[in-house]
Amino acid sequence: MSHIAIAGAGIMGRTLAWWSLNQGHRVTLLETAGRGSDPGGNGASWTAAGMLTPNTEVDVSPELLAMGRASLALWPAFADALGLAHEFNRGGCWVVAHPQDREQLLHFQRRLARLELREGQSYRSLSASALAAELAPLSRFGGALYFPEEASIPPRRVLERLERDLRRADCDWRGDTTVLALGARHIDTDHGTVYADATVDCRGLGAREQLTTLRGVRGELVEVRAPAVDLPALVRLMHPRYALYIVPRPRQHFVIGATQIESDDTGPISVRSALELLSAAYSVHPGFAEARIVATRAHCRPALPDNHPRIGRHPGGAWYINGLYRHGILLAPLLAREALRQLELTTTREESDTP
Ligand SMILES: Cc1cc2nc3c(=O)[nH]c(=O)nc-3n(C[C@H](O)[C@H](O)[C@H](O)COP(=O)(O)OP(=O)(O)OC[C@H]3O[C@@H](n4cnc5c(N)ncnc54)[C@H](O)[C@@H]3O)c2cc1C
Repeated sequence: MSHIAIAGAGIMGRTLAWWSLNQGHRVTLLETAGRGSDPGGNGASWTAAGMLTPNTEVDVSPELLAMGRASLALWPAFADALGLAHEFNRGGCWVVAHPQDREQLLHFQRRLARLELREGQSYRSLSASALAAELAPLSRFGGALYFPEEASIPPRRVLERLERDLRRADCDWRGDTTVLALGARHIDTDHGTVYADATVDCRGLGAREQLTTLRGVRGELVEVRAPAVDLPALVRLMHPRYALYIVPRPRQHFVIGATQIESDDTGPISVRSALELLSAAYSVHPGFAEARIVATRAHCRPALPDNHPRIGRHPGGAWYINGLYRHGILLAPLLAREALRQLELTTTREESDTP
């Protein structure tokens, strides 16, 4: 058993802590936000929509697709272990486009072919009549693509359950603690130094001083309560200017997202973004007209230049997991498992090298 100290309690830090405890390690988790304070301002994870949709993400590489699919396969057992099986929506994803944007759908299908996602295996193509029979509220689209494997989960519930489990498992959770510097076996904080067998930096954009190529990609979304909307599964609308998605949540709540803007601004949603997201949702289902806006959220996704996540080591020897970009909720289980494997191998090797 080793002692692992983790900086940052977003989805990545919490999932890694959870996985480490399950493997029998001792964990210290250092987080700048305090317990009970509004966590929303402190990390991208509290803003995410919770789409677990590797197949329908636009602009992904084959490598990212493979990672997403492998991580999605870990999610059912993970959600179950967190007691969230009932909130894990496995209803698949419907991809649609308005008639004037039909070219967007064809472009999307060309991308599917490049990624070797084949009709009949990864998705089904539905004619207007088949769509009307299967999901009448979308019949205005005159056809759709359906991806049965896509799923979603409410990220805030995952974050809460992870915290509950970590505290029950005697994780040394230190809130109100700001990490100042990391070395291979110690982390300096504003409350003193923590020593461990291995250290991992999961601070997202908080790690910018060490990872200078990290950038923020702003995302905004709107949550509504819409009793007149009867969409049981995820919907993606292909559009020339934005890629809209609608995520159904319990009690007729829906998350409508998300913008993608190259900016570090974590301020409130702009009028333009709110108008575009809500108009697009209304164009998918007229029942959104009477929906009530419950919340708007905005934050920045931590991204590296190639928009791929990375498990690496800082010059001083501390590990980092960062650059989760648009896929952090989806990829967290796979990255946690892989990071832990690398860390265990290296720690064992370094220990046996010690004279
Ligand atoms: C609008 C929007 C929608 C999204 N939708 C999805 C989605 O549907 N599916 C999906 O898979 N992904 C989605 N994402 C992406 C996902 O949210 C991110 O990839 C993920 O949250 C990144 O997690 P993280 O743990 O690396 O970083 P963060 O969540 O940012 O966590 C970093 C943590 O480190 C802490 N910290 C920072 N600095 C310090 C310090 N010095 N000392 C101590 N602690 C520190 C912060 O307080 C924070 O708690 C979305 C993102 C946005 C913005």
